[in-house]
Amino acid sequence: MSLLTVGSVAFDAIETPFGKTDKIIGGAATYITLAASFYNSDQKIVAVVGEDFPQDMLDTLKSRGVDLEGLQIKQGEKSFFWSGRYHNDMNSRDTLVTELNVLEYFDPIIPESYQDTEYLMLGNLSPQVQRTVIERLHKRPKLVAMDTMNFWMDIAMDELKKTISMVDVLIINDEEARQLSGEYSLVRASQMIRNLGPKYLIIKKGEHGALLFHGNSVFSAPALPLEEVFDPTGAGDTFAGGFMGYLASTEDISFDSMKRAIIHGSALASFCVEKFGTEQLTAVDRGDLEKRIGEFISLTDFNMEHVIS
Ligand code: AMP
Repeated sequence: MSLLTVGSVAFDAIETPFGKTDKIIGGAATYITLAASFYNSDQKIVAVVGEDFPQDMLDTLKSRGVDLEGLQIKQGEKSFFWSGRYHNDMNSRDTLVTELNVLEYFDPIIPESYQDTEYLMLGNLSPQVQRTVIERLHKRPKLVAMDTMNFWMDIAMDELKKTISMVDVLIINDEEARQLSGEYSLVRASQMIRNLGPKYLIIKKGEHGALLFHGNSVFSAPALPLEEVFDPTGAGDTFAGGFMGYLASTEDISFDSMKRAIIHGSALASFCVEKFGTEQLTAVDRGDLEKRIGEFISLTDFNMEHVIS
């Protein structure tokens, strides 16, 4: 089923303890659509780039089944640019530069052919733009998921809460969950955040995996212990893309299906961090993904038979 992604398509410059990049391709919607393309060949994107954005990346997205009718290319303008530096633990980072450029006045136009969208992934963007997209769809999609970040909590908390109240699934990291709720305990935070509206909350914990909260149920997924984490940029978006891509392809949005979707998202995210930017995500194939999912299954497989009589 069709999956519509809204988010940044951008340039990033990244510094990690392993090295530094000049401007490379990044952006939340880039990672989301690349990840979802492992499951879904009916993808659409609403985004904006400047005339500086390379055509070959747009061709890559197209070749992976992403319909680019909703991607605006602004002549004479520059693409969104973000730069970040990771700390030695690779779990936290500082934003060095955020140049909104084309995103500053982004008006998300929804092509008529996108109106039948069943799954909507609101990637990291201004909460006002995210909400406009929901409002401009004539029919509410079957499932609306949303990502956000501390940047929007710092400058637009009220707007953000309004948008959060309209989505089914919120996907954020542990630090963001704490900032959004004002609670340190993630269990308490999950209750407060779900009181804002979303029935499902996913809290990503970097190298410690992810939690899915729904009603009184909690599911805990591990992250694959990797020998080397090279660049965590985009891991959260890749996770979200794998999660929504899987759900859209199975058309099953039950709690059990969401658990499987989290493992798919986690497996793809584990590839993403192995190289800078989108490099590894565009290099691996379905076979690599299946093998990695097998590693996730064996990671948490244990037998209690002789422990409890
Ligand atoms: P993640 O590492 O999953 O949090 O996502 C990193 C991506 O988010 C980068 O490729 C950036 O281009 C993009 N990004 C960073 N800040 C923003 C922002 N304020 N709005 C939209 N996208 C952003």
